[in-house]
Amino acid sequence: MKINTNLAKLPAGYLFAEVAKRVKAYSARHPEADILRLGIGDVTRPLAPAVVEAMKRAADEMGTPQGFHGYSPDFGYDWLINAIIAGDYAPRGVQIAPDEVFISDGAKSDVGNLQELFGPDAKIAVTDPVYPVYVDSNAMAGRLGEYAEGKWTGLTYLPCNAENGFMPPLPETRVDVVYLCYPNNPTGTVLTKEQLRVFVDWALENEALIVYDAAYKAFISDPAVPRSIYEVPGADKCAIECCSFSKTAGFTGTRCAYTVVPKALTYGGVSLNRIWGRRQATKFNGVSYITQRAAQAVYSEAGQRQIMETIEYYRGNARVILDGLRQAGILAFGGVHSPYVWMKTPGDMPSWDFFDLLLTRAHVVGTPGEGFGPAGEGYFRLTAFNTLENTEAAVERIISVL
Ligand code: PLP
Repeated sequence: MKINTNLAKLPAGYLFAEVAKRVKAYSARHPEADILRLGIGDVTRPLAPAVVEAMKRAADEMGTPQGFHGYSPDFGYDWLINAIIAGDYAPRGVQIAPDEVFISDGAKSDVGNLQELFGPDAKIAVTDPVYPVYVDSNAMAGRLGEYAEGKWTGLTYLPCNAENGFMPPLPETRVDVVYLCYPNNPTGTVLTKEQLRVFVDWALENEALIVYDAAYKAFISDPAVPRSIYEVPGADKCAIECCSFSKTAGFTGTRCAYTVVPKALTYGGVSLNRIWGRRQATKFNGVSYITQRAAQAVYSEAGQRQIMETIEYYRGNARVILDGLRQAGILAFGGVHSPYVWMKTPGDMPSWDFFDLLLTRAHVVGTPGEGFGPAGEGYFRLTAFNTLENTEAAVERIISVL
């Protein structure tokens, strides 16, 4: 059997495995250490009561002859799609048609699967540091060349750092697809509408595609910051947008997301909406009725109020981290429209050395920036998903160590 050698080229799933390994080894040597984890990228607060009620009701329905549901429609139930359009797009003046929305089980699978739309030799660009799925899924398809010294030879990296204010530079060579994620994981930064427009105009001019990951859009607190790339005119002709209920409503374990593929999006006369629909109908069998009812409840009045309370809680934690670090004179970014704070390591310390320092001296775990890409070296990610008490204690400990 001839295997897919592109998979064999991928470096081992290094980042979180290495973090877990170092924490485990330290805990074994120091069982008394009370370790605080600000590395988690997963939500921790419970589901909204309105969501739980909707799931229970849907489960009861499924146990009756009249209320039983088998396979869901390939692209999702109309009532969920309509709730998404009415709740997430219409209030911001964005027109999306129901057949442009595809319900799925996660933004991770969607951003990973979307690369099946691209030709085998399509040129890819990512912002650096980056959520690793965009890179790895294209590497698996053989688009990125070889992995050497922490970089793919065929991938265009758009470095984002304190010097350029985390605004990615435009690609300097021919690129077919750019992945953008805002609010950004891992830097927690956002782009203004004008900054986003630079990329939309570039994509339109170069007949390129933007894959826009808006998984953290619910954390945006300033109405002037775009929640959707479609708030920028022309984006419907050059962008696919991936959204998720994971961080919006605590669905990381429940699994529901959606991707918008506008019908205006055509390349070489081929509609991406049509071929994505064809792909999904072939390989994906829909999200469960119970889960889609749960997602619909996110848009109810009670659901909205309850999910915002949870987001406010995480935002409060992010503020504690950001304010604490800044008051201590540490350069820190993000954390306002995002659950992530991206801090500069003191004296440009390598991010893994800083990880070890915090673990051993402060008993605090974060994520080394280098794990998100070469431009993440010298930075460190802290997350707002722990409890307020633990977050406050962790920040105090970090500051006292520094
Ligand atoms: N996109 C980004 C940028 C993420 O950070 C994550 C999860 O951490 C996801 C997508 C995954 O979302 P989902 O849970 O919907 O698969």
